[in-house]
Amino acid sequence: MSKRSKNILTNSSMTTYQRCPRAYYYRYVWGLAPKKVSDKITIGKLTHKGLAYLHQGKDLNEAINLVFSETSTDASMAVRKTVATMLTQYALKWKDDADTKQTLAVESVLRRKLDDNWWLAGKLDWVIRDDEGVWVVECKTTSRIDRDYLAKLPLDNQVTTYYYLASGKWKGEMRGVIYDVVVRPRIYRRSGEDIDTYLERAAAAYLANPTAYFTRQCCFREEWKVDSFLSSALYTAKEIEKRLGEDADAWPQFTWSCFLRGRECPYAQLCSYGENLRTLSAFEIVDPMRELLE
Ligand code: SF4
Repeated sequence: MSKRSKNILTNSSMTTYQRCPRAYYYRYVWGLAPKKVSDKITIGKLTHKGLAYLHQGKDLNEAINLVFSETSTDASMAVRKTVATMLTQYALKWKDDADTKQTLAVESVLRRKLDDNWWLAGKLDWVIRDDEGVWVVECKTTSRIDRDYLAKLPLDNQVTTYYYLASGKWKGEMRGVIYDVVVRPRIYRRSGEDIDTYLERAAAAYLANPTAYFTRQCCFREEWKVDSFLSSALYTAKEIEKRLGEDADAWPQFTWSCFLRGRECPYAQLCSYGENLRTLSAFEIVDPMRELLE
């Protein structure tokens, strides 16, 4: 952890610690990040970048070109074309909506003090003002929008984090957080089908059933909910503080979360076989707070 990112809590670092302190140690103290990421994650990151360009007012072609020219990525052609399809469909879906909103900020880093020692920080995707007031728009990509996906929002800590951070800057004007969701293509690629034909079918599916692929869900936060969240965040920060400076053994392993929801923790090999040249070769050192410090 770099000196500048010490004592900063983000929603992601807090969630990681609460899920497993050992995972926090590997990611946020040691800085270990997996070298290989799945196509799903790459699609999410690149789409996110493209949405930021659209929200800055760039036209669709410019946004797509910027994603691939400015972002260092070894994404495959199939991934790039999928991202371009998703951005095109997003721009089509919300084209009539843009005039009703004023953009206040895109990818804006905000932080507020938790106590004398700790800061809560986050990068807000998009902040807008409409007739009702100021909203933080959190952009998400996912595989499907179902009831469970939306049911978690009243308790979602990321929503509360962003609401609290933006409330410090746009005092008295904050209305809430809008969860702006884009679903990745849901149809299967047929055996032997080329990527262009597949994505033409995917685009037709987006147009035929837009509600299955896009949603904008408003989330609100009462004062008591924010207070409760801040107590929990400070508690987590103090727990982390107690362990900083200690080696791996001081950070408990919550093994119930090694294969949460069928997904293997990225540090499973390290925990299973120890820290050695083979297990460590799958990682590189990346400052986990780099997005906040750029
Ligand atoms: S593999 Fe399990 S114990 Fe190890 S860091 Fe991940 S969640 Fe924690």
